[in-house]
Amino acid sequence: MIFFKRKDKRGDADEAPIDVKADSGAAAENQQREIAARQNEALPPFKDLVYDAIIKNAEKTMLDYGRDAVSGSYLIDGVWHSIEARDRESGDAMLVAVKRLCGMKPEERRARQEGKFLVEHRITKAKFTGKVTAQGVKTGERVMIEVRPKKAKGFKTLDDIGMREQMQERLREHMRAEGGIVLIAAPPGGGFTTTWNVSLNSTDRLLRDFVGIEDKGQHETDVENINMHLFDRAAGETPDKMLHRIMLTQPDVLSLADFCNAETVNKLSQLATAAREPKLIIAGVRAKDAVEALLRVLLLKASAPEFAKAVRAVLCVRLIRKLNDTCKQPYPPPPQLLQKLGIPPGRVQALYREWQPPPPEAEEEKRKKRKALPPGTCPLCELEGPQCHGIFYRGRTGIFELLDVNDALRDALVKKPQLEILRSLAKKGGHRGLQEEGILLVARGVTSLNELQRVMK
Ligand SMILES: [Zn+2]
Repeated sequence: MIFFKRKDKRGDADEAPIDVKADSGAAAENQQREIAARQNEALPPFKDLVYDAIIKNAEKTMLDYGRDAVSGSYLIDGVWHSIEARDRESGDAMLVAVKRLCGMKPEERRARQEGKFLVEHRITKAKFTGKVTAQGVKTGERVMIEVRPKKAKGFKTLDDIGMREQMQERLREHMRAEGGIVLIAAPPGGGFTTTWNVSLNSTDRLLRDFVGIEDKGQHETDVENINMHLFDRAAGETPDKMLHRIMLTQPDVLSLADFCNAETVNKLSQLATAAREPKLIIAGVRAKDAVEALLRVLLLKASAPEFAKAVRAVLCVRLIRKLNDTCKQPYPPPPQLLQKLGIPPGRVQALYREWQPPPPEAEEEKRKKRKALPPGTCPLCELEGPQCHGIFYRGRTGIFELLDVNDALRDALVKKPQLEILRSLAKKGGHRGLQEEGILLVARGVTSLNELQRVMK
């Protein structure tokens, strides 16, 4: 990937339009650190690196200090991309500047150190928080830099996160139910927090009493009008112990981002199916798909008959990158491919893929006319934005599956709780899984088949 470079060949005037400031210590201390860091000539290259990461939407920047060189990569939309390596001399100088700025010890290259900094864009005034961690590894030292916008782009509605309308309606119906359990599932590190909060946000919190239970070491819920109760998992506390006290407040709905233990599942299953005043339970699970989420709950050694009776539905999400609209390339889909994907003939005129360079002969002709572009740039985005920086994708959306748990599935959960059996029963009942939902996104030109294959691997 090409790297942001100061355009001025004389090297001074055109530096990255951001200011970096110390943020780890007290005010006076931070000021001293900024002065110390500024005396180091390697602070501007650090600013270039941070600015480059910001314009490319990199969530993380990893620098690996090896024996002879510093290799690096960006995490963009969940995928790592290598960046140009730099030599140890300039890489080391930059690291000294960063460590000084963050109040870390430059000479310490083994022990884990952490520091913070602030970034402000000089023109837009946008603010970012930065975090640096450095730690010795087998090959040398690994440095991780995370820069996040202070005002993160908030997803509020099911539309925002890309759920199709018909599914939204079905989900709302489950969320309006008086009793039962609705599971919300995502793979670890794969969109749980956003899906959880947007789903809760789309409920009727203003009409019914919602209570949330959450481990105080694992903050997930950021929704208004949910009365939160915290427990301390690290100290051995579990949600089931608090339920008696919480039920005295007579809530209508309970939300719990993680079931934690069998006892909690059992008690909530009973509450969800009580003959008088059943409660709606909304609970989070880490799982790769909806059927797996059901089994994850049973793996806690919860009572299968009680849970099977209570569970209504599972919503599961998988994050997928969106093709960049500027450069995505249409192609007529071969009829066999459409058939394989289950898309009726005539329904879709074009599928889309990452921009592909023209065949070599044509390219040769064009090359005579224009200067070759540096590797890692996108010829189409060069002409008009928004830029994909040679990745051809920009931003992510969710593939969602919503499994209605029917009696056949309930029965199998008790008698034959096996992945394949449950999957085939779900399919028989008309369920559309992540793969099929993903194909809808491909058919709509939101993403490519390549990307769908990558995330479904
Ligand atoms: Zn592009």
